[in-house]
Amino acid sequence: MSFEELNLIAPIRDALKAEGYTAPTEIQQQAIPPLLAGRDLVGCAQTGTGKTAAFAIPILQKLALEKKEPKSQRRIRALILTPTRELAVQIGDSFSGYGKNLGLKNFVIYGGVGQKPQTDALKSGIDILVATPGRLIDLMNQKLINLHHVSFFVLDEADRMLDMGMVNDVKKIISHLPSIRQNLLFSATMPAEIMKLIDTILQDPVKIAVTPISSTVEVIDQTVYYVDKKEKRKLLIHLLKEKDIPSALVFSRTKHGADRIAKDLVKAGVQAQAIHGDKSQGARQLALNNFKGRKTRVLVATDIAARGIDIMELSHVVNFDLPNVPETYVHRIGRTGRAGLGGTAISFCDVEEKPLLKDIEKLIRISIPVAEDNPYPPTLSEPELVSAPVQDKAEPQKRNRRRRRPSGSYR
Ligand code: AMP
Repeated sequence: MSFEELNLIAPIRDALKAEGYTAPTEIQQQAIPPLLAGRDLVGCAQTGTGKTAAFAIPILQKLALEKKEPKSQRRIRALILTPTRELAVQIGDSFSGYGKNLGLKNFVIYGGVGQKPQTDALKSGIDILVATPGRLIDLMNQKLINLHHVSFFVLDEADRMLDMGMVNDVKKIISHLPSIRQNLLFSATMPAEIMKLIDTILQDPVKIAVTPISSTVEVIDQTVYYVDKKEKRKLLIHLLKEKDIPSALVFSRTKHGADRIAKDLVKAGVQAQAIHGDKSQGARQLALNNFKGRKTRVLVATDIAARGIDIMELSHVVNFDLPNVPETYVHRIGRTGRAGLGGTAISFCDVEEKPLLKDIEKLIRISIPVAEDNPYPPTLSEPELVSAPVQDKAEPQKRNRRRRRPSGSYR
């Protein structure tokens, strides 16, 4: 099935083309037609299935076809609730990407940061609001937000909200929405409490379920190398020299790290370039074109810089650093193995990253096989975790959660 067959308007089709999407994913094929027809919908789907586009595209199309309000009179017509700041930002980016030709305004609010820029944006008028429940409730309590015009309501990752104790906040928010609206709920699992929520907020919903994330990543050959942080670059050079790796996208947690990796690879005789937010658009595009054109063998990227990059026939993804958010692992490795091509994902895990690996394995429900041919086995042992916790300034809550966890030992 093509996007044309889904009756999408040209500005959206063009935006999807620019994102590098050639055909709708399964969930998009199933969800977009009933959503365009105005139905409520329950989606049993996880991140990695393309569910964000499945709800963002029909919402954008319907809003775009409504009568345009002058900029100053924009009202929040779509509200998307999601449990974490990272997901909220990703969803906001998706709306910006798919809706870039529509002139609609979306905005993301979440806690843990000052509220002034958020309230300023709200005052200037927005059409689509993506929010985490806590900060939204705060702003509602301060009467700084008006939800009276919401006609699309999306509850994303409902089971995770339940786990995180957000359900009462969610119910309170819903009680402030107009009663006539289109409702969408997405959840990877359907525990009884979510079923109850579905019964109370959705009317005669279409129900769809798509292949869970574990089978999406199952087609990718995954390996983990336990390695000391200081040996990671040597290990990468070794693998690039010894293994059949035609092209690799290497993920670094930091921009500085990406530069250093690329520099060391070049020194070792491997063609490599880095892309990250500190590079100009021109330099990024050039690096990307060189990689796509096979002029460079390795592209080293941060997650933000890599977003939206679509590289066909990418054989290898290397997680030089493991991501702080487990879903990001799936996004990263999903870049290989696209279009039925079986790809390979190699991850480096130093002693501080072990809790991140555990989180990833929990999400994908796969125990990632440990490489046997490791010339740089780790020398550091577990107790050092206590004196050197993972540095993750952007996510204080997650870091605390990780620190409290007892650490296991190498497998
Ligand atoms: P999600 O499940 O919404 O987090 O999406 C997972 C990943 O799939 C994201 O990186 C999207 O950019 C990508 N994606 C979503 N829809 C498509 C599509 N139709 N074709 C290719 N990639 C897609």
